[in-house]
Amino acid sequence: MKTASFPYIAPGATLGVLGGGQLGRMFSQAAQAAGYGVVVMEPDAHAPAAQVTPMYISAAYDDADGLHRLARSAAAVTVEFENVPAAALRWLDTHVQLAPHAQAVATCQDRAAEKALFTRLAVPCAPHVQINSEEAARSTEVAALLPGILKTARMGYDGKGQAVVTSAAELPGAWRALGGVPCVLERKLDLHLELSVILVRARDGEMVHFPPQQNLHRSGILFASFAPAPELEPIIAERAVKAALAIADGLDYVGVLCVEFFVLKDGALVANEMAPRPHNSGHHTLDSCDCSQFDLQVRALVGAPLAQPRLHSAAVMINLLGDLWFDAAGSRREPDWPAVLCLPGAHLHLYGKRDPRLGRKMGHLTFTAATPQAARISALQACAALGLAPF
Ligand code: ADP
Ligand code: MG
Repeated sequence: MKTASFPYIAPGATLGVLGGGQLGRMFSQAAQAAGYGVVVMEPDAHAPAAQVTPMYISAAYDDADGLHRLARSAAAVTVEFENVPAAALRWLDTHVQLAPHAQAVATCQDRAAEKALFTRLAVPCAPHVQINSEEAARSTEVAALLPGILKTARMGYDGKGQAVVTSAAELPGAWRALGGVPCVLERKLDLHLELSVILVRARDGEMVHFPPQQNLHRSGILFASFAPAPELEPIIAERAVKAALAIADGLDYVGVLCVEFFVLKDGALVANEMAPRPHNSGHHTLDSCDCSQFDLQVRALVGAPLAQPRLHSAAVMINLLGDLWFDAAGSRREPDWPAVLCLPGAHLHLYGKRDPRLGRKMGHLTFTAATPQAARISALQACAALGLAPF
């Protein structure tokens, strides 16, 4: 970390991003709009971010030569996803301005470390235990956490690397089926709703945040986000924002951070997990806010002033998964975009992925409107037009 001596990086400089998926693409587009060049390091030449910048380093995330080139060509570097090898991040941290810093990303890479941080900061999280061995999987301690969800400590996303466990007898087998890697078993909670808080923290500790959005998951994957959150009580929203800000302070975080929360049926607020980057649930900010999560990612990285973003329109965002590119018989098709683009307030974002696959995030569709109800009506019409079950 070189927090104290960090100078403001003026437009015209080049910013680096490790990872070339849709988050890297939208970061690049925001950086370019603000007058910066962008260099993307990513092994796949057709990746979404590689398509939008001429400065592209085709290398694995831990390739020494690639990292040297990235550090040489960028005034500051950010990451677009958390599963970058820790050694690569540590190297970048000492050779270039990196935000978020390696230690913060390392915490977000590991569910056990995340939960330890939540606990240290007195932010409630699900009752849990680490399962790192066959012996731990057979311990009597686990009974109190059942029915539970066994999650790999690392590399899980979109519900992958998880198994529901209903009895103690199932646990050793479930652990082996997940690869016998370090896991966390947490109690399956009775959810009333899910929300996320996206905040931005500058190097000097200044923070701004978006209003929490309510999130709807289907099969472990984010299906839709709603801003403002329709069912969230203001007092719980306030508590969630406070907890998220405390987490960012606790990590001495720099950049965009997303914290996911559950509100339980009994009203309790519980932190679930966090992401050291812009988040899928914040994609609506591109169209609903005066400054998006990607604009603020750029500002935090270059040391520009942050300004509290304003939600100027109600929004509903729907994820567009690869499933939409296949008909009932499994044949390829193009989704009926004209049928959704004719709806009021539609913003279609596609990530340039050539190969649609079931469950793969291909794009998102945001509906903005003057009222939450109007945004909801358009989004429901879009679901009908695309063949998605209504929410
Ligand atoms: P991922 O990294 O795949 O997003 P999450 O831990 O966020 O993993 O889990 C994905 C979804 O599964 C959550 O958004 C929530 O809907 C559900 N879920 C996760 N943990 C629990 C839990 N302890 N109790 C109930 N539902 C859960
Ligand atoms: Mg999640």
